[in-house]
Amino acid sequence: MTDRIYLDWNATAPLRPAARAAMLAALDQAGNPSSVHGEGRAARHLVETAREQVAALVGAEARNVVFTSGGTEANALALTPAIERPGDRAPLDRLLISAIEHPSVRSGGRFAREAVEDIPVTADGIVDLAALEQRLGELAAAGQRALVSIMHANNETGVIQPVAAAADLAHTAGGLLHVDAVQTAGRISCDIKALGADLVTVSGHKLGGPQGTGALIKASEALHLADPLIRGGGQERGSRAGTENVAAIVGFGAAAQAAFEALEAEDAQTATLRARLEAGLREIAADTVFFGAGAERLPNTTLFAVSGVKADTAVIALDLAGIAVSSGSACSSGKVQPSHVLAAMGFGPALAKSAIRVSLGYSTTEIEVDQCLGAWKKVCGTLHKGSEGIAA
Ligand code: PLP
Repeated sequence: MTDRIYLDWNATAPLRPAARAAMLAALDQAGNPSSVHGEGRAARHLVETAREQVAALVGAEARNVVFTSGGTEANALALTPAIERPGDRAPLDRLLISAIEHPSVRSGGRFAREAVEDIPVTADGIVDLAALEQRLGELAAAGQRALVSIMHANNETGVIQPVAAAADLAHTAGGLLHVDAVQTAGRISCDIKALGADLVTVSGHKLGGPQGTGALIKASEALHLADPLIRGGGQERGSRAGTENVAAIVGFGAAAQAAFEALEAEDAQTATLRARLEAGLREIAADTVFFGAGAERLPNTTLFAVSGVKADTAVIALDLAGIAVSSGSACSSGKVQPSHVLAAMGFGPALAKSAIRVSLGYSTTEIEVDQCLGAWKKVCGTLHKGSEGIAA
């Protein structure tokens, strides 16, 4: 598959060369990280180095990083009423989530279904802080405390959420904040203290590490996850039993470090390319809708629609032209339902079914963006017969 153009980085990012090299070396390291002999200690050293690399990405302490099988598992681990705080072991009463969270958060983790509540978002896809404040106030007045879970940036629109403000509201009401930073870690600054988060989820494969890696990171060692998902041995300080996937964790760590070091340069580069892409899309169809464009967005993401051009068909046509993009989020692609994110933003199913996500990465080039635009012009012209705004 040469000459393909991969523009679906929010679904998964290609493996970074540093991650590949580190993983290949780690595969040759014998030893269980829990063993006391030399081989075991060497494997443990690899895991702990990766833990430091992942911790550095979010400005946390290495001992507060719990490795998981990915963002989904980290979210599931975080969403439990059983998060013990110093001097307070009472279970949390409610889970408040934004209406645009990833399905792994929307599933509510180990909260009872009736304890999970949606907080609406604005037409730009930003969580409604006034609604959050009001609900937290009502709960506090009733003597209840909430875990609030707000994503740092949405995977479909790229819209960045006011997480620090949400943290203040959650804490004022005696609650906690979990942040799903799967789409932001390694892409924009994602400091756990600046976010004000108590718990942060990151995923390896979104930042150039291997699939099947992730971490839940605590702001403080004093927070205790009393209800681990996987019980057994004492790995991950009792938070996740099972022999560590050493090579994958090593690749995750190496990718985290590479992403962290290149963060600003990669940001600037993708932002420039996204601006070029969006200008080109506008030129092709003046009536192109860019979802969330009025809000601050991840520099690599654009979600757009041309009314009348069905995304599912367009994505296949672009694929045949050698270009990989996605309609809605990868996790929900394959389903015919329009995105819950766009529905929450108030868009009807017709326009939502036209939404195409293009997400760029550090190795995306100007030539690739231009080729994507060339292919889109043809696809859009073919699929959107009769539109005046489109030069076929
Ligand atoms: N959270 C968000 C915002 C995501 O975009 C994704 C994956 O698309 C996940 C969580 C799940 O992460 P993983 O694929 O590592 O399980």
